[in-house]
Amino acid sequence: MKVVKFGGSSMADAGQYRKVRDILMADTDRKVVVVSAPGKRFSGDHKLTDLLYLCYAHIQYGVDCSGIFDMIANRYLDIRDELGLQLRLEPELEELKRRIDAKQVTREELVSRGEYFSAKLMADYLGFQFVDAADWVKFRLDGTVNQEQTYEALRNHVLMGYGAVIPGFYGAMPDGAIHTFSRGGSDITGALAAAALDAAVYENWTDVSGILMADPRLVDNPQAIPEVTYDELRELSYSGAQVLHEDSIFPVREKNIPVNIRNTNQPDAPGTMIQESFQGDCDPERFITGITGKRDFSIISLSKRGMSNQVGVLRRVLTVLERHNISVDYVPNGIDNVSVVLPTQAIEKDLYTIMAEIQQEAEPDTLDVHHHIAVVAAVGRKMAFRPGISGKIFAALGESGINIRMINQGPDELNIIFGVDNDDFQDAIRVLYNSFVTK
Ligand code: ASP
Repeated sequence: MKVVKFGGSSMADAGQYRKVRDILMADTDRKVVVVSAPGKRFSGDHKLTDLLYLCYAHIQYGVDCSGIFDMIANRYLDIRDELGLQLRLEPELEELKRRIDAKQVTREELVSRGEYFSAKLMADYLGFQFVDAADWVKFRLDGTVNQEQTYEALRNHVLMGYGAVIPGFYGAMPDGAIHTFSRGGSDITGALAAAALDAAVYENWTDVSGILMADPRLVDNPQAIPEVTYDELRELSYSGAQVLHEDSIFPVREKNIPVNIRNTNQPDAPGTMIQESFQGDCDPERFITGITGKRDFSIISLSKRGMSNQVGVLRRVLTVLERHNISVDYVPNGIDNVSVVLPTQAIEKDLYTIMAEIQQEAEPDTLDVHHHIAVVAAVGRKMAFRPGISGKIFAALGESGINIRMINQGPDELNIIFGVDNDDFQDAIRVLYNSFVTK
């Protein structure tokens, strides 16, 4: 049995609903379907979840939200009518509007209705049972998911052998109140369903043919990554690639359920497979799994003669940052110098205080800060213990005249990270992509 999750773009209109049905009909193992709220149909369109948040903001400020509410309701009614369904959504929509006007609806309950109505429609269209997420996704009072209760409740709710459609993104608090995950949280619902039902695979259907090797805004038509491990994925997302909701990894990883990212608009593409490890190698010539990065870092560097023989200098620097509640990304160092690399936005506000405190407490000979640094990460499990990869990276950058400001490699050799000027960011990613991928 497979659990399949469809994101907002796959639910955007009647045409997309039809594609979803074709995908399900192509494989009868696709039995449990988790859906997002309808997303954008075209650029400039609105996601229903955004409209629902906007609707709530109106209520909060005492402004009538009828116009927005009608836009929301009509999106569902249009999908229904275009698919020729008979489902009477009006009474529930009217009741919701009545409760909104009476100020009886919480923000979380209101935004959760995006996936609720989406799932109701999809269940009706497919002839599957509708399983409300509020009946099985159980939150604790601190907002974390009670996995045991959640898994057991889902097993009791899904009639095995029949198809089920589940709304993503929300669940219920112990008192029954609706609680939502953070944005993009339908991924988590899908992962929980896959784990609860011991699915053979968790398919996550979206609008790209898998996780791309580089950001398509930086590189033209980047290839999709066929296979990626959970550890690599963590590196890729930490350094900038937006793929799955971070919290969706844990439930499936724990149960060793592979995740397959697929494209609703190109269902024949195999997409990306995410697993703990892979046997064999689908592309032995490919050493780099993905290239990613982020702009706008700062480097605080200090040097102190004889630092290598002194105890506690680094600790003092880190203590200052800890006091300001700042987490450090990388700490490259030399014999008598050390730098800390961190997002500029984290230090901007208190920069002068932080620098003064470091000066006072670590007493360096020199203390500098450089801004406008971009961090680029080349990630790949096959780089480990293989000589020549970093040589190739730095040679390619050097040949293109890109100056490297910082180099860092984790001890697991899963990545090579380096800093360049913000202005060189796009070139650095392109140069790497072209020297490792297209050849
Ligand atoms: N609809 C929610 C959002 O836009 C959840 C999701 O789609 O995953 O964030």
